[in-house]
Amino acid sequence: MNNIQQYIIICYSTSQMLRVDSLLKALDVTTDLIPTPSEYGSICSTAIAISKEDKEKAEKILQEGNFAIKGIYPHKIRKLAGLMESLKHNVISEPFKAIIKKVEVGETLTKEEITFLLKIEGEAELKVLFETADRMRKEIVGDVVEVRAAIEFSNYCDKSCHYCGIRKGCTVPQRYRMTEDEIMEAVHELHDVGIKTVVLQSGEDEFYTVEELTKLIKRIKQETKMGITLSVGERSYEEYEALKKAGANNYLLKIETTNPEIFQFIHPDDDFEVRKQCAQWLKELGYVNASGNMIGLPGQRPEDIAEDILYFKKMGIHMIGIGPFIPADGTPFEKYPQGSVEMTLKAVAVTRLVCKNVYIPATTALASIDEDGQRKALQAGANSLMLISTPPKYRINYQIYSGKNMIDLDSAIQAIKDAGRKLPKYLKILPEEE
Ligand code: SAH
Repeated sequence: MNNIQQYIIICYSTSQMLRVDSLLKALDVTTDLIPTPSEYGSICSTAIAISKEDKEKAEKILQEGNFAIKGIYPHKIRKLAGLMESLKHNVISEPFKAIIKKVEVGETLTKEEITFLLKIEGEAELKVLFETADRMRKEIVGDVVEVRAAIEFSNYCDKSCHYCGIRKGCTVPQRYRMTEDEIMEAVHELHDVGIKTVVLQSGEDEFYTVEELTKLIKRIKQETKMGITLSVGERSYEEYEALKKAGANNYLLKIETTNPEIFQFIHPDDDFEVRKQCAQWLKELGYVNASGNMIGLPGQRPEDIAEDILYFKKMGIHMIGIGPFIPADGTPFEKYPQGSVEMTLKAVAVTRLVCKNVYIPATTALASIDEDGQRKALQAGANSLMLISTPPKYRINYQIYSGKNMIDLDSAIQAIKDAGRKLPKYLKILPEEE
């Protein structure tokens, strides 16, 4: 997407949005699915972007098709007025200044400029980068930090991803599968403290068929009405479709890296094209689409991370999890160096500047290599946190990397406070803690 004037169509539901999108496409209107700008509230998380030239045609099509949509609005270019002025006491290089100017007026950054930002070093310039991202975050998604919680319900996995501590064939203390009742117990605990979205994550475990997952999703909806994020790996279009119909709202499938060679090198049983296809299907099915990457993968350069960020933007990804690679004992990558905190924070900041209206979690992986990592990420563009709410007896068996930190509600609240940010109103915690 570039800076030419665009319009966005806001629909009342995901299914309406998908119908409108396919109708427009069929009638030769070029569309782009993007996260709905926050000023339109949460009626439908995905908006349809069209060019100015196509606006009248689209309006006519919608009228003739009797689509009662919320409306068509100019797509506001997000600017940061007064940015240069507010930074004038900082000494920064001329090329950096030129990029800051583009951010101020809302111009699209090129791959070279994104790479430049990712290569920034030195305290003074890093401070400017993080502060700029923090301002963009505040302007676009506000001060509240969204809190979600993950239940890692099975560590059985059919895949042998070289980096992962629960890969097939890797020795873990114990393989486990939580029963539906055990999962529901954990879900209710989260519901009781007011958490609104539960993330169900597992290895790629065929035991949990679509039928099993459907039963679970329906039960969660019936008993709690919570939002559901699935993170169960690569599946077929039909399976993603059935899970969406069952009630799943979001899907988390990280691209991990958009460099095809690195992707192939780290995923002996995966195909990069298939992974991209899965993300595309999830998008077409109307999932709130969560992706992300790892920082510090073998052979990965800042240019590759820049490509990742451009991919998130182009795919209209709603949630982008950026974490450092951390070596996991007993895996082929156990002796590889871990990703750097600084590069991870830079990637978070630049992702905020480029993708703007997205959820960016301060990841557990970051908290695992730097105890202050989540606060730092929250001050560099991140706006959400994910609790690890797997029952204690199973947690130790879900070490996708070594030394995985256990983010509980208390440590999340601490990070939010340390970052000077707001807790979400839905959390039911003691008043003095607010
Ligand atoms: N099987 C699911 C869930 C995978 S675990 C799936 O494939 O989607 C969730 C995420 O943990 C992965 O997407 C990866 O980004 C991250 N992860 C796994 N091993 C890691 C490691 N060694 N270091 C850092 N992150 C890791």
